[in-house]
Parts: sequence; structure tokens; C-alpha cells
Amino acid sequence: MDYPSFSKLLLVGFAIGTIFGGTSIQAATIHPTPQHAWRYSQKSAWYHDDSTSKYYRQVWDKANATWSKKGFNWKKTKGSSKTTVKNVKSNDIAWVGMTWTNNPSGMYIHKNLVVVNQTLLNKLRYTKQQQINVAAHELGHALGIHHNHDNSISVMNPANRYYGIQNCDVAGMKKIYSKKYVGRSKLKSLATTNVSRGFVSHDYASETIKQPAALKLQAKTIVRAKVAQVSDDQDFYSRIKLQQVEVLKGKFDANKNVRQSGNSFNDVADSQVLKTGEEVILALADNGDHYLPVASGNSIFVATAQANSYQQLSTGLHFELADFNLN
Ligand SMILES: [Zn+2]
Repeated sequence: MDYPSFSKLLLVGFAIGTIFGGTSIQAATIHPTPQHAWRYSQKSAWYHDDSTSKYYRQVWDKANATWSKKGFNWKKTKGSSKTTVKNVKSNDIAWVGMTWTNNPSGMYIHKNLVVVNQTLLNKLRYTKQQQINVAAHELGHALGIHHNHDNSISVMNPANRYYGIQNCDVAGMKKIYSKKYVGRSKLKSLATTNVSRGFVSHDYASETIKQPAALKLQAKTIVRAKVAQVSDDQDFYSRIKLQQVEVLKGKFDANKNVRQSGNSFNDVADSQVLKTGEEVILALADNGDHYLPVASGNSIFVATAQANSYQQLSTGLHFELADFNLN
């Protein structure tokens, strides 16, 4: 998965600043938005709205309407559907939206779970229109388009807040659906031999691409450690045993596991990158009998070949060990 680098995010911020400042006009993103490997059979799909409030039903209705106007016809059903949308309240401070697509046959969508994180959207004071933009981004993943580049003017900008569906997004969608659909039954037969895991798109707010400085404040424990064991490695869950090298903040109890996730709204994809023997720095919240990364992949750093250099899983940014030292 690609996540924006910090320098490029600054560019996004700059571009947005100039648009609203009225001093210049940011050029539209021309190239079609990239595509995932999966799709629906046609430019139309049902979804079921499981939101807990009228406000979020309106957010999804609006997001759905903008896609329908641009050529992909989302249709709401009261019955069950492959695609479920909803608002959730997640304490994970990193992400505003997430789409989980289960495509065991590789191309045919078996299930989409499409959510926005009400807690963070409110905390960061997203307007209703900006929340609709996030919802439209998630519906974009659900219909088969991928992230656009980091400083794109696109609803599929990886940290999208300000953009609705643009021409490049429509072009990306059309690129998928102008191709002939191979057909469900054929793909189903492939499923037994070509099983792939679910795919999670984690959508961060640009404000919460966490730097060590911010994580140092939030985390109860920051530990440099070796991955001793990874178990229960499933789509939404893994349990990591750490062997402590150095405690950088708080207290670390090696008897507790680090748990990535544990429910279907949290992404364990990032933690799957961790391998036994790897050296990592983790910013952790204490959850009683286990630890949780305070901001999913944003608070997991893997040692690189270079001495004292660590790479943030979610962003690919590099940090020095010294960045994690307190004071
Ligand atoms: Zn996304």
C-alpha cells in the first residue's frame, strides 16, 4: 500500500492553501486515477447502509449521489448486500476512513466493508462536505479505484479531505468498466486455487500522519524491540511477542502481547509486514492484558539496514533512533 510522504503532504497543504488563498490555480490531475485489481460486473452496485445516525445516512446518500452523477450508479438497498457502509467510532487516532474488500478470487468483489471514523472526523472538525468527500473516497475504493498520487487533485488523494470526484477519478473508474467483465462463475472456480486475502485501504487524515514527536506524547510506552514471535496472523488480527532491546518511554512488560487490531475495522495489513527477528520501534497504548499500537501503522517503525534508522510502516518515512528519545 502506498502512503503519502511528509514532504509531499506539505505540497498538498501548499496547493490547498493557494487555492483558497486565490493566488493561483492548481492544475487538475490529468492521468486517470489508478485501479485496484477487482471490480463489479458493471458500473452499478448495491449497498446497505448500516449507519447509526441520520447524519451519516445523509453523508453516504450524498457520496453515493455524486458517484451516480459521475457514472457509477450506487444503489441503496434495505436488504443485505455485498457492500455495507457505515459510520464507526474508532479510538484509533490515525484514520478517517477505511475500506476492506474481500476478493478471494482476485478480481470479483465478494464483500466490501466501507466505513468512516466519526470520532476522528469530529475531532479534526471535518465539515459535512469534507466528510462526504471521505465517504466518496471510500466508495471509490469499493468500486475498484486505488489511491492517486500524494499531491493529486483527486477524490482518491491518499489523505483526501478537500476534493470531490474529479475528472481523473471518473477516467479511472471508466478504465475499469470499459473492459469486458470475465464473469463471475469462471472467477468463482478460480477461487479455490487462487485464494488471496482481503485488502484494506486505510485512509489517514493528513493531520494525523504521525511523527515521532506526536507519538511520544500519545504513547504510554515506546519500546525498541525484536519481534520474537507473530501468531494468529489473520486478516484482521495478529499477536506479536516482543523481546525488549530498549524502553524509550514508560514501562514495558514483555509478558504482554502487542495486538494489531482485533476487529474488522482495524487493519492488520501493516503488522503482517513484521517478521520474526525484525527490529522495531513501537509506540503503544496499554490495553490491560495487551498493548495496541496507538496509531496503527503510523506508530510502527522497522529498522532499516542503516544503523539507527527506522522506517515508518504507514508512510515509508525514515527516522533516526534519536527522534524517539525523550526531551
Ligand atoms: Zn484510500
